[in-house]
Amino acid sequence: MNNRKKRILITGAAGFIGSHLCDRFIQDNYHVVGMDNLITGDLQNIEHLFPLGTFEFYKHDVSKFVHVSGKLDYILHFASPASPVDYLEMPIQTLKVGSLGTHNLLGLAKAKKAVFMIASTSEVYGDPLVHPQPEEYWGNVNPIGPRGVYDEAKRFQESMTMAYHQVHGIDTRIARIFNTYGPRMRTKDGRALPTFFTQAVQGRTLTVYGDGSQTRSFCFIDDLVEGIVRLLKHTYSAPVNLGNPEEITILQLANKIIQTVGNSNVKISFHPLPEDDPKRRKPDISKARKLLNWQPNNSLNEGLSLTSKYFKKKVTTY
Ligand code: UDP
Repeated sequence: MNNRKKRILITGAAGFIGSHLCDRFIQDNYHVVGMDNLITGDLQNIEHLFPLGTFEFYKHDVSKFVHVSGKLDYILHFASPASPVDYLEMPIQTLKVGSLGTHNLLGLAKAKKAVFMIASTSEVYGDPLVHPQPEEYWGNVNPIGPRGVYDEAKRFQESMTMAYHQVHGIDTRIARIFNTYGPRMRTKDGRALPTFFTQAVQGRTLTVYGDGSQTRSFCFIDDLVEGIVRLLKHTYSAPVNLGNPEEITILQLANKIIQTVGNSNVKISFHPLPEDDPKRRKPDISKARKLLNWQPNNSLNEGLSLTSKYFKKKVTTY
């Protein structure tokens, strides 16, 4: 009998979602090879894994040639700046990791005969004209707007992955991930949820963009990780939405976070809405429900309360 541990390469391993995936696959008895260039990732997220002997780490930018020695059974490409603030600051790196990085890793998957998964995104739907968004919707993306660097890199990533699937027979998976949150998000990440938590814990005014009527649907990290594991183990190669369909306005989110943190003195201020900011976003997860028998288990209230504990510890009060 072959007792060799399955070996999995996770790019973006030191990031928010990547590090939780490393934990999960180690827990599931895999040998994890982590890779990250640490431009937005943080080694603190994976520090506890180094002594285990079932984890190795390479600081590397996957938009350059990627070499990994030995066998690889799975490759999960989760590296990319993911906050609008980050990809506005690093537009070229964002385009390169989604395009060149994906090409390099598909080449590696072909050489290793590995199953290949990409972290795609609800941003492929842009500012959607269809609500909620099913996988069949083609989206409404401005290619040259400020979000275009992320959205188009991810759309290219999907095309490239499908092309390798069709031409080279690579076993591929495309996870379209909607807004996800939980412990290990950065306090200075710039996205609404970690920003609001940081502000609420520090007793500062919460900065809502626009009138706060735009909506998002937030999925707790543990639920997302479970969805990713189930999709990886399935054989379905077309995109699958993974997210929580519980839709909420950004103003409601701000108020909920103030309540969860328990800092009722905190106020809300309103600021201009960034260009091309999607007005509504909610996943249609019928496909994931049917194919993977998956749906989120944590309500927004439960997830926010778990996340609040993390931010209270993480944030140093002025
Ligand atoms: N947003 C906000 N205040 C902030 C940061 C973001 O009101 O400090 C808004 C942003 O304009 C958007 C929503 O919150 O409408 C979610 O933004 P986020 O950056 O979290 O991610 P997105 O879902 O837009 O990629």
